[in-house]
Amino acid sequence: MTVSHATEPRQNWTPEEVQALFDLPFNDLLFQAQTVHRANFDPNEVQVSTLLSIKTGACPEDCKYCPQSNRYDTGLEKEKLMEVEKVLSEARDAKAQGASRFCMGAAWRSPKKRDMPYVTAMVKGVKELGLETCMTLGMLSDEQAKELADAGLDYYNHNLDTSPEYYGEIITTRTYQDRLTTLGHVRDAGIKVCSGGIVGMGETVSDRAGLLIQLANLPVQPESVPINMLVKVEGTPLAEQADLDPFDFIRTIAVARIMMPKSHVRLSAGREEMNEQMHALAYFAGANSIFYGEKLLTTPNPEANEDMMLFKRLGIRPEERHVEQDDADQSEALLGQVEKAQNDKFFYDATA
Ligand code: SF4
Repeated sequence: MTVSHATEPRQNWTPEEVQALFDLPFNDLLFQAQTVHRANFDPNEVQVSTLLSIKTGACPEDCKYCPQSNRYDTGLEKEKLMEVEKVLSEARDAKAQGASRFCMGAAWRSPKKRDMPYVTAMVKGVKELGLETCMTLGMLSDEQAKELADAGLDYYNHNLDTSPEYYGEIITTRTYQDRLTTLGHVRDAGIKVCSGGIVGMGETVSDRAGLLIQLANLPVQPESVPINMLVKVEGTPLAEQADLDPFDFIRTIAVARIMMPKSHVRLSAGREEMNEQMHALAYFAGANSIFYGEKLLTTPNPEANEDMMLFKRLGIRPEERHVEQDDADQSEALLGQVEKAQNDKFFYDATA
């Protein structure tokens, strides 16, 4: 086995090379991924982001996995665009609980002209709180990307979802090229790119390889790569999809780590389905970012505490923000939460 110690990203990955990585024995693949991870990151740090839905449901797109599409009856309660003040108050809570990045998501095909003053005000307000900002609003024109950049947006999330070959099975209302064009506008505007996909939608291993090749071979690799596991929501066309072998999910994380050595590989959707052993394996395979989810914003939050308890057991620290330095507070708040999680454990056990 040749072990890669890659420290520099390369943009010329071929399908054969990536298939060969997926074909490695599990232990060889994880060893290689961990080696690349250690050469590029502190292996015991994980970045923590909080996600807030600023506009929920009624999306005109037809993504087959998504409960927010207006084409599927999933019982989801629709909500209009949240008021700026409400978003800022949620961001304040997130900061107090130690999040270093605040992500805001709207279920839109793309933002309308009339929405832009509100979303840019949100970006400015969240930045002023000393948090990194991230948004996901659907497709962006180059002008919209520039407006968001001028407001100070740090990251924009826009996923490629799957391989170009499998994409038509999942979404028909926008093309793969539409997505690549938005990523280009984001990058050109100077905003950092967050882009990844979903596994477990019935795709083949070569589709997973195809997705990772698209991401890794972008002119600049995304700074953040979310690898989601399909959440099967009743009412969506993928509700009855067969379960994914958990080791195939871990393999995808490991291959993403090897191909995009400098990117944060993020665990996000589907985490509720993963037990702590699987979380630990994912961190070992090179995942070094998680979404806490909105529930962090309400207390008590057992899910967040479970993450913190696992961090403590694994000796993992939340990554500090690298932008300004009132951040020591934030990291301390998270570490405080790790301690608190330990103390709260009895409470949760006792009430289970
Ligand atoms: S565009 Fe986003 S919100 Fe709309 S259906 Fe697709 S994934 Fe869901």
